[in-house]
Amino acid sequence: MKKIEFFKSVFSKNDFPKENLSQLILCGRSNVGKSSFINSVFKTKIAKTSSTPGKTRSLNFYKVENKFFIVDLPGFGFAKVSQKEREEWNKLILSLLSNYTSIKVAFHIIDSRHEPQESDIELNRFVHAQEIPYFVILNKIDKLNQKDKSESVRRIVEYFPELIINENLFLFSAINGFGSKEIKQLITK
Ligand code: GDP
Repeated sequence: MKKIEFFKSVFSKNDFPKENLSQLILCGRSNVGKSSFINSVFKTKIAKTSSTPGKTRSLNFYKVENKFFIVDLPGFGFAKVSQKEREEWNKLILSLLSNYTSIKVAFHIIDSRHEPQESDIELNRFVHAQEIPYFVILNKIDKLNQKDKSESVRRIVEYFPELIINENLFLFSAINGFGSKEIKQLITK
């Protein structure tokens, strides 16, 4: 699992790729580290990272070894958009999740330093409602000491009791590569 290429940015459901490949959906709030996750796991710089949140509004498709897509949903939970824009965005995501290919997995990236936000809770419910296999990645773990790591895990499980560490909950750092091995195994599986 090495070769990853940027495939396309999609702004409307008419633009969805025609290839009927499986999809790994990468979601989470702006600036949580989705692009960094791709770059770190695939040892590339293909995904643009940014310290300015919420700039892109497209679904970004990456193709991995011509076998499956990773779809980055950059805008989810971006508060500063109008209600109308938010609804359009949700509609686009929903059509991605419900109509397109049959095999899908969702990785929800959450900043380990912070309590899950309203949009995280919304996203969790949204994915469960689609009955898509769901994994949470607690990232930026390099910023936490051992005690805070445990606290972060305890807190996330309090919010999302279905999570079990190293089954559907993983600790990760894009900066020092912590958890990369487990994530790669998970993606391969
Ligand atoms: P995205 O908007 O979700 O794609 O987030 P980015 O990947 O652009 O990352 C947002 C910011 O968080 C950037 O400044 C990254 O360098 C930083 N970042 C991402 N992952 C990590 C991590 O694991 N550890 C630390 N310390 N910083 C991270």
